[in-house]
Amino acid sequence: MRIAELRCFVSRSSDAALFTLTGILLSAFAALGEPVPGTLPAQWNIGAEDCVASPQAPLQVHTYEPQTVILRQSPCANFEANFIYLLIGSDKALLIDTGAVADPKAMSLAKTILELLPEKDGKKLPLLVAHTHRHLDHRAGDPQFASLPSVEVVPFDLPGVRAFFGFNDWPNGIAHIDLGGRTVDVIPTPGHNQTHLAFYDDRTGILFTGDFLMPARLLIEDAGAYRESALRVIDFLKTRQLTHILGGHIELNAAGRAYRFGSHYHPNEHRLELTRADLAGLPPAFERFNGFYARYPNYILTNPVHNLAALGFIVLVVLGVAAFGLYRFLRRRRA
Ligand SMILES: [Zn+2]
Ligand SMILES: [Zn+2]
Repeated sequence: MRIAELRCFVSRSSDAALFTLTGILLSAFAALGEPVPGTLPAQWNIGAEDCVASPQAPLQVHTYEPQTVILRQSPCANFEANFIYLLIGSDKALLIDTGAVADPKAMSLAKTILELLPEKDGKKLPLLVAHTHRHLDHRAGDPQFASLPSVEVVPFDLPGVRAFFGFNDWPNGIAHIDLGGRTVDVIPTPGHNQTHLAFYDDRTGILFTGDFLMPARLLIEDAGAYRESALRVIDFLKTRQLTHILGGHIELNAAGRAYRFGSHYHPNEHRLELTRADLAGLPPAFERFNGFYARYPNYILTNPVHNLAALGFIVLVVLGVAAFGLYRFLRRRRA
C-alpha cells in the first residue's frame, strides 16, 4: 500500500469509526430515555426581496440529527414557506406535511424525501405521509407521493383522519405510530382547523405543532376547541420530556412583528422553536382573548372571520354616514 492510499484508508477508517461512535452515542441517549440531541440553524432560508434577481433553492434540507430531517420551503417558492418534517425509524419513516407547492418541477419534494430515506434489506424504508391538518399549504405536495411504492398517504378529511388513526372519541385519545425503535404520538388539536393534529416524537422529545402553535399568526376557527386542545397537550406533556415545539411556519421577525401577508422575504426572522412556556401561555391567552386580535412576543392570536365581520361593519357605518351626509347636502341645495 502506497503512502497516499494508506492515508486515505486511515482517514476513511477514522470517518467510519466516528460515524459508528456517533451512532453508539445516540443509541445510548435513546436507551437512557434521554431525548436524542440535535441542532437547529440560527437562520433558515429567508427568501429574498427580489426572488427573480436572487434565485433561491426551493427546499432547504437540515439534518437535526441523523434520523430527523427538517425541510423548509423557500419563501420565494411559496410565501407560506412551510416546514416539513421527516422522522426515520428502523422499520418505517414518517413525513409530517407535504407543503404548499404541488409541481414537482418547481419543488421536487418526493424525490428529495426518497433520496433521504435509508435502505433496509435492499429496499427503501416504507414511508407514511401524514398531515398536521387539511389546509392546502400542508398537503399540496401529496400527489407527488401518490403512485410511489411503499408510500402510504393518510387522508386529510376528518372522517379519514379519525378512521386511519382509530380516534373513536375525537378530539380525545392519543394514537401511536410505531416507526421501529421510535414512537410518534398523535394528539388531536382542533381549533385552527377541525382536522388538526400534533405529533410528539419520543426519540427527540420534539412536539410538531403545524399551525396550532408557531411563531406566526395563530388563525382561530374555534376558540373554545383551541383552548381545550392546548389544555390536552399541556396535560399530555406533563410526564414527558420536551426539547422543542416546532410548527409549520414562521411569520414573525425577531421582535415579534408579523411580515406582510404574502411576503416572499423574511428579514431577521424569529426562531422556529418555541418552548413549554409558550404552550402554557395559550390557555390564559384564550381566556383573555377579545375575539379579534392579541399580540404576544412569540405569536399573534387572530380570528380572521371576526376581523372580516368587524371590517365589514366599519365599512357599512362609513358608507351609511357618507350617504346620510350626501342626502342632507342635496336636500339643503334643493331648499
Ligand atoms: Zn392552516
Ligand atoms: Zn399553514
